Amino acid sequence: LSPVPSDIEISRAQSPKAVDVLAKEIGLLTDEIEIYGQTKAKVRLSLLERLKDQPDGKYVLVAGITPTPLGEGKSTVTIGLVQALTAHLNINSFACLRQPSQGPTFGVKGGAAGGGYAQVIPMEEFNLHLTGDIHAITAANNLLAAAIDARILHENTQSDKVRIILSYPDDNFSSQFFKKRLGISKTDPETLTEEEISKFVRLDIDPSTITWQRVVDTNDRFLRKITVGQANTEKGLVRQAQFDIAVASEIMAILALTTSLQDMKERLGKMVVANDKKGEPVTAEDLGVTGALAVLMKDAIKPTLMQTLEGTPVFVHAGPFANIAHGNSSVLADKIALKLVGEKGFVVTEAGFGADIGMEKFFNIKCRASGLVPSVVVLVATVRALKMHGGGPNVTAGAPLKKEYTEENLQLVADGCCNLQKQIQITQLFGVPVVVALNVFKTDSPAEVDLVCKIAKESGAFDAVPCNHWSAGGRGAVKLAQAVEKAANQKNSFKYLYNLELPIVEKIRIIAQKVYGAQDVELSPIAQSQVDRYTRQGFGNLPICMAKTHLSLSHQPERKGVPTGFILPISDVRASIGAGFIYPLVGTMSTMPGLPTRPCFYDIDLDPITEQVKGLF
Ligand code: ADP
Repeated sequence: LSPVPSDIEISRAQSPKAVDVLAKEIGLLTDEIEIYGQTKAKVRLSLLERLKDQPDGKYVLVAGITPTPLGEGKSTVTIGLVQALTAHLNINSFACLRQPSQGPTFGVKGGAAGGGYAQVIPMEEFNLHLTGDIHAITAANNLLAAAIDARILHENTQSDKVRIILSYPDDNFSSQFFKKRLGISKTDPETLTEEEISKFVRLDIDPSTITWQRVVDTNDRFLRKITVGQANTEKGLVRQAQFDIAVASEIMAILALTTSLQDMKERLGKMVVANDKKGEPVTAEDLGVTGALAVLMKDAIKPTLMQTLEGTPVFVHAGPFANIAHGNSSVLADKIALKLVGEKGFVVTEAGFGADIGMEKFFNIKCRASGLVPSVVVLVATVRALKMHGGGPNVTAGAPLKKEYTEENLQLVADGCCNLQKQIQITQLFGVPVVVALNVFKTDSPAEVDLVCKIAKESGAFDAVPCNHWSAGGRGAVKLAQAVEKAANQKNSFKYLYNLELPIVEKIRIIAQKVYGAQDVELSPIAQSQVDRYTRQGFGNLPICMAKTHLSLSHQPERKGVPTGFILPISDVRASIGAGFIYPLVGTMSTMPGLPTRPCFYDIDLDPITEQVKGLF
């Protein structure tokens, strides 16, 4: 329709097929799905065992140029592309998407189900609770947080022997505990020597080193800094802490990277939450909470099946933060989808932010965890973002676009294509063919569209095509689908950017120089001491997950185009040991967004008669 109706109107105008029908169509057996309502189902991991000899399909990553704060349409391209492949070219395909946080849904950005005629439906199910995975993460995360403070309290207020007797009252349990933790067989805690106790039983957590925070999936800025332990019952063990948004929890990053239940348990156990008073890492396993965390996460590990507007299958699974984590949906969903589509099929997934961030992490972190090799990168560009890189005025969420963006201006487009060219070059560093998808807006002129496609091809893209999926659905992305199909048959020499064995600082430098175009990196004294600590603790061989602004290739969001000559400042270095990466902070990163003056929730309402949700976008 023209004008294109709102996302929720489009979503509601289409009746989704029952999810068991969809599951059957894509070859799932009845006992491989767990149905949640009529339009969502979890898929059991047993499927991977049944299909283990089936060859994988082609693996396509949708990334983007450096975006404006409005987003340039990676999600809509991902969905438009699978709609084109399956519904228009008759090629099996699957989209694998992140589950959105409710923070932005009620805050500034709105939902993340795609948009226009390229959406996952029902979009309100997608954007709200889905199948409860984020709630499970919140529960697991906060159980661990409670375990840390309770442990400190009990170690402070009871003698070790009393505590052990109270904690492990059962003889058998007690004996197992001693064997596992102390490597000795004892059934009577009274017989423990002081040395055995201090060596193995006391965690002696240094409260000032606790890095594990509580989480909630709401943009609640007043929780950015809190004080815990103020009740008298906590014996004066008051300390400053904070809440993060739930999707920033390391458990979310683990969910996205894990490959099996066993692997998830091991990763949960390895999470480092603090140091002890000797400076050694304290883990979730040390706190005895691994099993309980795994129980809370046992259903969240199964991807959720949904569908696009054109009835093609979608997995929604995991949605880690794209700065302090890697911002990609789950390895498990991709693996299952690659089996389901078969050798000639396609799995299309998305990397958060621009290619310099999301794609770099997809290759160096996610592909390392999964062992999967991508076949093609689709690089999404828009005329509006290119104009901004060419010197156009600031683009702000919620404000009307200035005339530079609504009228033809070939010079701004041509000047801004330097960013597209640089992102193509970054993709080529990894040896994967790149197709540029120009996401067309109704204000783009034909001459602007032609110019971008011409420059993209001259810059080394395998192909560059305009896409109209937002206004026309899969039909508007058929040319893109054909280009992707051709590119997937090209020679592919995929490689990682750095060896894990290199020192941490060297790995950071390679990313900064080769990807961002920095002259060098500069570590603050805190960052350097953290690097030394992680290296000494044996974590030096992990991949790097840079926490940098997505609004510029550099660390300064206002520097558009292709900034050069800058020194990338690393203010701090932290680690997610269970997820398996080190994350250097380039400047400060907020892990708890706030609500703006005019939040999206003003528009959201429920019709009590029809039970229809209104105002989501
Ligand atoms: P990203 O995944 O890159 O953040 P999205 O796909 O979520 O971007 O798109 C950002 C917003 O822009 C969404 O609200 C979407 O509906 C809208 N949008 C995307 N493409 C178009 C288009 N071609 N015309 C109009 N609006 C669009």
